[in-house]
Amino acid sequence: MLVPLVVLGTGSLFLLQHTTAALDEVVKESMEVTHPVIDLQTRTLETAMPPNDYLINGSPAEKEAFARLSGEMDLAFEELLAAPFGLVQELDLVRAAREEWLRAKGKALSLLATPHPVGNPDAARDMKRMDAQLDRVVALLGQVHEITERETGENLAQAHTASRRAYFLVIGIFFAGIAIVVVTVFTLARSVLPPLRALEMGAKRFGDGDLSQRVELSMPDELGQLTQTFNFMAEKIERHDRVIKERNSQLNALNQIAIAITSLLSLQDILNEIMRCGIILTGAKASCIAFYDEATGLFTQWVTQGLSEHFVDNLSFSSGGLADEAFTSGSHILSNDLPKTGHKLSRLAREEFLRCFICLPLTSRDRRLGVIYFYRTDRDSFTAAEIELLTTFASLAAQAIENARLYVKVQEEARTDTLTGLNNRGEFQRQLKEEEERSRRYNRSFSLLMLDIDHFKTVNDTYGHQAGDTVLKGLSELLGRQARTLDRVCRYGGDEITVILPETGLDAAAHVAERLRAAVVAQSFDVNAGVPLRITVSIGVASFPVHADNVQALVAAADAALYAAKAGGRNRISRYEPASGQPAVQE
Ligand code: GH3
Ligand code: MG
Repeated sequence: MLVPLVVLGTGSLFLLQHTTAALDEVVKESMEVTHPVIDLQTRTLETAMPPNDYLINGSPAEKEAFARLSGEMDLAFEELLAAPFGLVQELDLVRAAREEWLRAKGKALSLLATPHPVGNPDAARDMKRMDAQLDRVVALLGQVHEITERETGENLAQAHTASRRAYFLVIGIFFAGIAIVVVTVFTLARSVLPPLRALEMGAKRFGDGDLSQRVELSMPDELGQLTQTFNFMAEKIERHDRVIKERNSQLNALNQIAIAITSLLSLQDILNEIMRCGIILTGAKASCIAFYDEATGLFTQWVTQGLSEHFVDNLSFSSGGLADEAFTSGSHILSNDLPKTGHKLSRLAREEFLRCFICLPLTSRDRRLGVIYFYRTDRDSFTAAEIELLTTFASLAAQAIENARLYVKVQEEARTDTLTGLNNRGEFQRQLKEEEERSRRYNRSFSLLMLDIDHFKTVNDTYGHQAGDTVLKGLSELLGRQARTLDRVCRYGGDEITVILPETGLDAAAHVAERLRAAVVAQSFDVNAGVPLRITVSIGVASFPVHADNVQALVAAADAALYAAKAGGRNRISRYEPASGQPAVQE
């Protein structure tokens, strides 16, 4: 932007200098010509004096004076002829004046040579002629002077005109320069400000959180590069932000899944939820969980979601197969029909229109529980992010499964008698209450047997406490076998065992009791290195609602009936007898 201004400024200065120099030149030239001319005119008039004075006084000194002045005149003419005249006319006039001078000089010399000049009429006449010649010289030189003055005037006028022009030109150049600067600034502003503003707006919106913000500028200069850099940076930040958001949403999803699957208590519900969540998480079509059985070393049980009946029916987990490989290697295995894959899809998978599946081990606290599969029909592979997510998901799922199993185990233990494996007293109470409610709801009856080993102390005393335990376990197994599917055998405490008989009236209950008693009599227990031991039991029978209208009363009734059986001689059953307040005794 400064370059044109510098050029214009330098040009203007040069022009002004040139114009001033032209003026100086005109004045100098004028001086060089005018001064000698005026000088010569004066000399001409002075030169006329000695001849005139000679005619008056006849003094020979006038001859010397004339000789000196005429010599100076000659020299002055020589110099004048060398002066820089602007016009030929001036030079011609000077030459003419010189000619005239030479004639006057000749006349003056002849006058000065006159022996008696004073009062000589011929000399006086020649004198007048010489004066006239000298007047012509002065006149001719006057013309030169006039012409020179006129010429100088014209030159000065021209120089002034040129100077004025230069002045206007410089002003014009100045304003042109200003205009150029204004236009340049305006053009620059127009070409720089809008893109800068666009960049500023883009950066502001980006800073306000609109990460999709890009600036559209196609300029080849630094601004274009700046825009490209901005867009490139924005692209990168947006990509990072997307990854972080994706990770966050995946973590949130995992967290939700963790809450969902750990808040469920049923193992089946947990498995279904694991498969459902995994399918949603990865966009898979189906899922399968297969459990490893340590006893057989095989995958013996599996659950599926989203697979066809045909696929499920034909599903098998052969030893050394893909599930085994994932299970033993502890890392995922991907199967598809892509060229480089080491695990091609099976025919069954292709019939299911599967394009790939992934198998991940389910490991919790170093315990390998099994494997989980996710099947895709939309593409040939899982992304690295999906695999990473599924790996975390699988360990989460394995923990949930393990926890559910532990929970089931703890619950089982909580309701099981450790020695006999029968339901314990707490569970008995719960089941009895459950049965009572069911009976009330459907207006049905059920019965309760209360069984006690006869003289069990003697067994302990004779064969030892461990033998007594063996008898208790053996009896429990026997009762478990003899009881019907719906009957519930519980250890009430000590050597007392109860049997809840759903949907069973008093007579049928007595019948069951008798069958059990007979089975016990028939059984021999191996308590001491092959020594067979036989025991008998006494059983009290009570029914709901005929004998009691609540569970406590029912237990009391059965207990009373048992007491009656003992009292009646043992190894017998006894029905509760409410009328007499004492139970009737029966063989
Ligand atoms: P009866 O019932 O015929 O009147 O005589 P009993 O000897 O069986 O007497 P009772 O039923 O009152 O005694 C129960 C005995 O059962 C007392 C105790 O030594 C024994 N017993 C209770 N629990 C266990 C157990 O877990 N293991 C063993 N070995 N013995 C037990
Ligand atoms: Mg007993």
